[in-house]
Amino acid sequence: MFSKILIANRGEIALRILRACRELGIPTVAVHSTADENAMHVRLADESVCIGPPVARDSYLNIPQILAACEITGADAVHPGYGFLSENARFAEILEAHGITFIGPTSDHIRIMGDKIQAKTTAEQLGIPVVPGSDGGITPEDDVHAIADHIGYPVLVKAAAGGGGRGMKVAQTKADLDTAISTARAEAKAAFGDDALYMEKYLGKPRHIEVQVLGDGQGNAIHLGERDCSLQRRHQKVFEECPSPALNDAQRKNIGEICADAMRKLKYRGAGTIEFLYENGEFYFIEMNTRLQVEHPVTEMVTGIDLVNEQIRIASGATLGIDQQDVTFEGHAIECRINAENAATFAPSPGTITHYHPPGGLGVRVDSGVYQGYKIPPHYDSLIGKLIVHGRTRVECMMRLRRCLAEFVVDGIDTTIPLFTKLVDNQDIANGAYDIHWLEKFLAEESQKEQ
Ligand code: ADP
Repeated sequence: MFSKILIANRGEIALRILRACRELGIPTVAVHSTADENAMHVRLADESVCIGPPVARDSYLNIPQILAACEITGADAVHPGYGFLSENARFAEILEAHGITFIGPTSDHIRIMGDKIQAKTTAEQLGIPVVPGSDGGITPEDDVHAIADHIGYPVLVKAAAGGGGRGMKVAQTKADLDTAISTARAEAKAAFGDDALYMEKYLGKPRHIEVQVLGDGQGNAIHLGERDCSLQRRHQKVFEECPSPALNDAQRKNIGEICADAMRKLKYRGAGTIEFLYENGEFYFIEMNTRLQVEHPVTEMVTGIDLVNEQIRIASGATLGIDQQDVTFEGHAIECRINAENAATFAPSPGTITHYHPPGGLGVRVDSGVYQGYKIPPHYDSLIGKLIVHGRTRVECMMRLRRCLAEFVVDGIDTTIPLFTKLVDNQDIANGAYDIHWLEKFLAEESQKEQ
């Protein structure tokens, strides 16, 4: 086992990792920017190292500084959390070259899944169902119109290096195709410095359903069921639940087994998430994330499995300690992402939290790095915490969520709590009847009502 783990992240996820380390009896090192001197992860860690100024490029993304922090403190493993360097294959390689374990998959697997064209080809070879589309990338020499005709309109033009919904353009008809390709190419070039594109069928009303997997890199892999993350704003997840209201046990088992089998063939190591769009009973692979996800707690609440603990054990060389038949799914869990943003306009709202009172009680978990008097810096993303609620049934879970939202006090800044208060009282949400466009439509209607 590791003698000391450096946590290369901040906020709620740094705390989440720290908690797992502490339960395993492993000392922790927090790294932080000058803006995060008073952050909770810094206060709770056994040691801390300042790695640079507020701008993430110079601190949380600064590989030489993080390496130096490992050296100074004697950390022999790094947990990258999500975001920042978590899917940076080069970072994983550099750490390994210095004899430090990257708690995550091999750099090869990160690289394959980081390129969406390669990821899709690999998924298909591994027996995972994919969205019908171009065979690999599209080049300026290709007859893009013939490819799109073959796929059938509407088609979606996507960036190979894509992320956060950027570099994605829909062509409803043949007349839109050239513009969709040129704008997607320009956007991809500007955002990722890579203008490789591919095309796929644009699905009209899909749900976003993703499967959690765990592998030990030695050919053993299991799935931990699915999460429904269809409630999105600008392709960003807002509210996630486990299990999906759209699936039955047989469908869950079927797609889960397809994913676990693919991970066995790949000899995948660590935690990963295979993301699908789901429409009319069919699954279509869109991407794989080779890291811990923000919404991992809903899976933990339903399975009782600590994913970070498993990541650390696996990274230390242990074989997978859980068989598929040991994984049981109990009840229902929902996560609400609490952002420091106005709930109607989504304008960021950094500032000082004057009062803070998180909800508690049976089946309630709040993963957050904030406290009363904490000043949220303006330099990072606006997620300040996650409210995760578990119930024996979806109905019980929703009732508990409504109660928790009413109890939650965060004063001094705007948060997205009022949005969730509206969602828990909505009939479509109560029925689980929503797709990836539902939230945008709901928000548009709400803003009209207010005008
Ligand atoms: P990114 O990495 O930029 O987030 P994804 O491929 O994960 O890109 O897609 C993000 C979101 O875009 C999906 O959750 C879904 O809402 C939408 N999307 C992606 N592919 C399709 C498609 N073929 N048809 C319809 N919507 C899609």
